[in-house]
Amino acid sequence: MAFENLLGQNELKDKLNRVLETGKLGHAYMFTGERGIGKKTFAREFVAAAMCTNRTGSKRCCRCKSCTLLESDNNSDLLVISADDGKSVISVDRIRDDIREAVSKAPNFSAKRVVIVEQAEKMNEAAQNALLKTFEEPPEYAMIILLCDSLLQMLETIKSRAVIVELKRNTDGEILEKYRKKREESTHLAQDVTPELVCSYADGIMGRIDEIMNDGDAMESRKRLSELLPGLFEGNIEVKNRVMELIDVKSKKYDFIFFSMISFIRDAMVLARFGMRTKIINADYRDALHALGGSVGYYRLKDALGVIDACYKNLAQNANGELAVDNMLIKLGMRTASGY
Ligand SMILES: [Zn+2]
Repeated sequence: MAFENLLGQNELKDKLNRVLETGKLGHAYMFTGERGIGKKTFAREFVAAAMCTNRTGSKRCCRCKSCTLLESDNNSDLLVISADDGKSVISVDRIRDDIREAVSKAPNFSAKRVVIVEQAEKMNEAAQNALLKTFEEPPEYAMIILLCDSLLQMLETIKSRAVIVELKRNTDGEILEKYRKKREESTHLAQDVTPELVCSYADGIMGRIDEIMNDGDAMESRKRLSELLPGLFEGNIEVKNRVMELIDVKSKKYDFIFFSMISFIRDAMVLARFGMRTKIINADYRDALHALGGSVGYYRLKDALGVIDACYKNLAQNANGELAVDNMLIKLGMRTASGY
């Protein structure tokens, strides 16, 4: 069976395994699901099996030329298209010219010639219409795979011609299985990441485990945030500026620090209301969070959560993110309800 090394998504695995076993492969697939959920990983596994020239059932052989070249990322029968660095759009030229050229030739080594478009929602309408031409009369050997976070920006005409493969959130059990594997595999990973923290941050999305476990800085930033929070609520401008640096709006890698801020505050609220022994996510900072709950108080923390949540939700669409975050941090330092 294909996908045996990948955790979770059992329904989807059954569906794709059946397709591979019968050999009735479609020309277009759309893998969809939230960022970090594993679209690329599953699509690559599916594609590798589809391209293998010596497949047994749904399982690729790992020895044929297609399999070995894919392993070293050198198989010219696979083209991967993604938006250029920093660009928010995949241009119509790349779709029209690159894909047309790729599928105009039969595969060299593989059973299929495949194009994967990453973040396909970045194709504008013109690009999607150009893609449609390939969808309409695909050569027998061609397969187009679109990966997209959301189907909302995709044209109906594209959706109706592709097989939609939807990845769902993983269970906490699956998240913990991956967490345990990662801890066993490497000693370099952030060892102070607890299972509770992983489950809470991952929220069913596998990719988020890597985000905190591969990056020692994430845990360091979390520690610094815990030290800065009391000063932030006191309205200390110097502290506010340091929190601003931690959030680092421009890097766009602020998900974990926002999560940490929200979960610290939620824990402090729980401790303020139900006492020191209540179960919390950030148990490693229990004393500090209990003190924060006591000094700031349940209702002010509750208001603060609302302020942070609103800022975070709008941040991706906000042209002036830094100003929005600065405003948020200033509001957190205000003692009166009128600040909120
Ligand atoms: Zn093979």
